[in-house]
Amino acid sequence: MGRRPGHAQGDRRALLNRSDRRPATRLVELGRRREWTGVPGQPGGVVSPPVWRASTHLYDDCADLAGGRPNEDGHFYYGRRGGPTQWALADALTSLSPAAEGTELFPSGVAALACTMLALLRPGDEVLVTDNAYEPTRNIAMGMLARMDIAARPFDPLDPAGFAAMIGENTKLAMLESPGSLTMEVCDVPALAAEARKRGVVTVIDNTWASPLGFPALEHGCDIDLMSLTKHVGGHSDVMMGSVTAARPLIDRIRRQAQFMGQVVSPDDAALALRGLRTMGVRLERSTATALELARWLDERPEVAATLSPMLPGAPGHDLWQRDFTGGCGLFSIVLKHADVAARARLIDALDLFGIGFSWGGFESLAIPFDPAPVHTLRAWPPGIDTGSGLGIRFSTGLEDAGDLIEDLARGFAAMGDP
Ligand SMILES: *Cc1c(COP(=O)(O)O)cnc(C)c1O
Repeated sequence: MGRRPGHAQGDRRALLNRSDRRPATRLVELGRRREWTGVPGQPGGVVSPPVWRASTHLYDDCADLAGGRPNEDGHFYYGRRGGPTQWALADALTSLSPAAEGTELFPSGVAALACTMLALLRPGDEVLVTDNAYEPTRNIAMGMLARMDIAARPFDPLDPAGFAAMIGENTKLAMLESPGSLTMEVCDVPALAAEARKRGVVTVIDNTWASPLGFPALEHGCDIDLMSLTKHVGGHSDVMMGSVTAARPLIDRIRRQAQFMGQVVSPDDAALALRGLRTMGVRLERSTATALELARWLDERPEVAATLSPMLPGAPGHDLWQRDFTGGCGLFSIVLKHADVAARARLIDALDLFGIGFSWGGFESLAIPFDPAPVHTLRAWPPGIDTGSGLGIRFSTGLEDAGDLIEDLARGFAAMGDP
């Protein structure tokens, strides 16, 4: 049998992480470089980069110590700069975005948000924050940064011209999120990013909902792709982590800030996230299909005033989602017609298969009450729809059978009773 050229030892590594492969294949290959899966001096290696625990890295001699090490992944220095397990995860995430040149890992998504804003803003600067932002994003900008004489204003994500008009001399950063993780509006990210870039404003997108698999944010003009890995990448509701992926020199500025602040993730957590990443594609496909089935069913229910899922034809944001996204996820919301808080609680409490909890993107389904109105300060949402009670529920669909989940929801509506 002839050896396939790709299997020659030297060629093998070059094969990995090639960005011309399709996403499903890349998820299998990402981050599995020989130097992180093998033992030096020995042929062969293991499949997954092992958990490589270390605080101290030993130097060969004083000359080695004095020689210095590049401040880059792949070069031992001290445990706070990570080791092979963290490097493999960061490398894998970088490879998910062809335009990226590096990834910094953080102990949570919020740590990634806070550190990124601190890295890129100085006293006197201004940051524009999308009005539908994840609440801690808004609180960091309007609260913590205000104490440093950094101004923050919300912008309407559905109005790119208005956004452009808000950009002033001191505006340095724009925080985007699409879809919003409660209200699910999709904004015209390429248009917003183009307006920002024209005026020298750096854009960060919280891409936790779609991940680069469903929305390649850097390819759509954003400068920084930020994710809570706690959600889809972890995928099993047992690890907290965040990531920031970008090209140079932005990723270097964020890395410096992260090092100033001593941000580090454990190799055990990095291995869990890397394991989650391998199956993220199939999990997302499955939870997307289930979410769409549930959304269609819910949209027909007389108790439901609005179904907020960009994946649902006819729902707000669907056109932009179809134009820009290559995938979805299991996270969507509904607004109830005539319910009060007690009725909504009867519905949610009667659900067997949906846990009640924050977070999302795990293998298990979740439901949580929320109210859409306070999320938006600049316009009524959803637009042009009678939002009935104004009381919402957000669902995160997991990997259960869709029929079982629908039966569970039917049980919930029965328990809620007639308005
Ligand atoms: C959960 C979440 C975060 C924060 O991530 P943590 O890992 O929980 O700190 C950021 N953005 C969005 C959209 C989220 O849902």
